[in-house]
Amino acid sequence: MKCLVVGQGIAGTVLARTLTRRGAAVRIADAGHPHQSSLAAAGIINPVTGKRFVKSWGFETFYPVARAFYRELEAEWQCTLWHEQPILRLLETVQQANDWAARMASPGYAHLLGERPDAGAWSAFLKPALLTGEIRQAARVDFPLLLHTFRQKMAGEGLLLEQAVTSGTALQLVSDYDYIIFCEGYRGRDNPFFPALPWQLSKGEGLIFRFLPPGAETLREMVKRDLMIVPQGNGLFWAGASNDWTFEDNGATAAVQQGLGERLSGIFSAPYEIVQRFGAIRPTVKDRRPFLGISPVHPKMAIFNGLGTKGALLAPYWAERLADCLLEGKSLVAEVDIQRFF
Ligand SMILES: Cc1cc2nc3c(=O)[nH]c(=O)nc-3n(C[C@H](O)[C@H](O)[C@H](O)COP(=O)(O)OP(=O)(O)OC[C@H]3O[C@@H](n4cnc5c(N)ncnc54)[C@H](O)[C@@H]3O)c2cc1C
Repeated sequence: MKCLVVGQGIAGTVLARTLTRRGAAVRIADAGHPHQSSLAAAGIINPVTGKRFVKSWGFETFYPVARAFYRELEAEWQCTLWHEQPILRLLETVQQANDWAARMASPGYAHLLGERPDAGAWSAFLKPALLTGEIRQAARVDFPLLLHTFRQKMAGEGLLLEQAVTSGTALQLVSDYDYIIFCEGYRGRDNPFFPALPWQLSKGEGLIFRFLPPGAETLREMVKRDLMIVPQGNGLFWAGASNDWTFEDNGATAAVQQGLGERLSGIFSAPYEIVQRFGAIRPTVKDRRPFLGISPVHPKMAIFNGLGTKGALLAPYWAERLADCLLEGKSLVAEVDIQRFF
C-alpha cells in the first residue's frame, strides 16, 4: 500500500509513523507554513478539564495508546518526548472547591484527582490559592522535538516532499498512490475534496516567559488556574492559551497578549519576563469530534484532521483506526467518520 500524507503537524506525523509501522510505503509532504498549530501547542494531555472538572472524551481508551506510541518513539530515537507531570489545579472560590470535592468523590475519578496541602516548590512563585488540587495521569509531549526529529528522519530517507499539495497537485500525484491523506490542520477547511465539513476554528495565543528570581529551573509540575503554565525544562515556561472564535490572522495580537499578561499577573507573586509571543489556529470542529475518512468526491483522497484542542491525546489512537480503515478495509465508527455529515 502506497500513501502520501499531506501535512506534517502532529496529525500527519503520527499518521505517517503509524502507517509505516503497519507496513505501508509512506511519503510525507509539508509546505512549512508558519504558525503551525502543533508548534504553538504545549503538548499537554490533561485527563480532567473544564469548569466542572469532567474527564476528557475517551481518556481511558486513548491515554494508554498515546503513552505507548510516544514511549516507543523515545526508545527508538533515544530522546525524551513524553513527560509525565501532574498538574497543580489552583482553586479560587468556595464553589470551585466544592465542585472539586464532589468530583473527587465521583466514581472513576479517585485515581485522577487529589488534594495537596499547598503548591510545594511552586509556592514561592504563586499567589496563594484557596485550595490546591492535583490532576494525576497528566503528561506533556514535546511536539517540537517529535516533529523536528521525524522530519529529519523522513528527509534522510528521501521520503519528505517540501512542498504544498494543492487539490490540483493531488490529482496529478494520485496515480502514484493508493491514498493521499490530508492532515492540513485548519487549512483543511478549504480543501475541495472535503466540502461542507462543520469546522469551527478557534485561535489560541500564548507566550514563553522566565522568572526573574532564581530557583524556578527545578519546577517540574504544570499549573492550571485560568491559564495553563508548563515548565519547559530549561528555565523557560509556556503559558496559554487564549481561545477566540473570531480572528483576522494567525499571529500574536496586542489585545490578546495584554489579556494574557493580566491573567499571569493574577497568578504569580514573582516577577517574570516574556521572551516570546505566538498565536495559531486550532483545527476545531462543531461537534468536537475528529474528521476521519474517505472523501465523498474522490475514493483515493482521505482526511485525518479536526483534532481540536487535544492533538497529543487523540492522534495516536485515531491514526490506528484510520490505518485499520485504509489498510484493512475496516469501518470507522460513526462518531468520527466524516460520513456523519453526508
Ligand atoms: C496555543 C495553542 C495551544 C495548544 N495546546 C495544546 C496542548 O497543550 N495539547 C494538545 O493536545 N493540543 C494543543 N493544541 C491543539 C493542537 O495544536 C492541535 O490539536 C494539533 O496541533 C493539530 O495538529 P494538525 O497536525 O492537525 O495541524 P497543524 O499543526 O496546523 O499542522 C498542519 C501542517 O500541514 C501543513 N499543510 C497544510 N496544508 C498543506 C498542504 N496543502 N500541503 C502541504 N502541507 C500543508 C502545514 O504547513 C502544517 O505543517 C493547542 C493549540 C494552540 C493554538
